[in-house]
Amino acid sequence: MTGDHLTGPAFRGQRRGLMLVLSSPSGAGKTTLSQRLIAQNPDLVLSVSVTTRAPRPGERDGVDYHFTNEEAFLEQAFSGQFFEWAKVFDHYYGTPRGPVEDALDDGRDVVFDIDWQGARKLTQQAPDDVVRIFILPPSLTLLRERLKKRAQDSDEIINGRMERAKSEIAHWSEYDYVVVNDDFARALEKLNQILHAERLRRTRHPWLDGFVGELMEE
Ligand code: 5GP
Repeated sequence: MTGDHLTGPAFRGQRRGLMLVLSSPSGAGKTTLSQRLIAQNPDLVLSVSVTTRAPRPGERDGVDYHFTNEEAFLEQAFSGQFFEWAKVFDHYYGTPRGPVEDALDDGRDVVFDIDWQGARKLTQQAPDDVVRIFILPPSLTLLRERLKKRAQDSDEIINGRMERAKSEIAHWSEYDYVVVNDDFARALEKLNQILHAERLRRTRHPWLDGFVGELMEE
């Protein structure tokens, strides 16, 4: 029998959902990678964060982020509605608790596109459920090019983002996996491999206790 039976239809719903945390400096391709990963995996959902920053062109409220103001954000934060929240650059970002808990209870996995502070906080809260992946750009020159191509930031903002990229990268060794996004298809394939292997981890299959107990009594 292959390991596939662990996630096969007979045992569906009995697996604990996992929390797949993706971090990277802005411009390393993390958002596109996570969108494609979700499109390829029906049991995987994105945690949509709440933020006080303004939407970028093309971003949709409720899809990319829940956009809000500082007062409403802090009210949500102090009433315990976030799994974690942090000030990143000049804005607040938070992970709403409800949708994540619902998805995990349903046996679905959740992707978090969050920074190293969020990764740390989620790990403290749910060490057994969190799988952390850091996405690296192949070079800083390429990262700068990608940020420039977004064409909506001035040189000054791009320089600031490059500095912040370096401080984000400094946390790379706090992650379980590191994927260099030098080739999009290959990086996506690696994310799929990590996801599928992590789904098979023994600790995510609490039903095994009973199953093995019965096996031994046969
Ligand atoms: P951006 O403004 O470029 O979308 O995101 C800026 C940074 O904030 C990124 O590193 C992103 O991963 C991070 N971020 C987005 N949502 C959250 C969140 O809910 N919590 C935390 N801690 N960081 C977040």
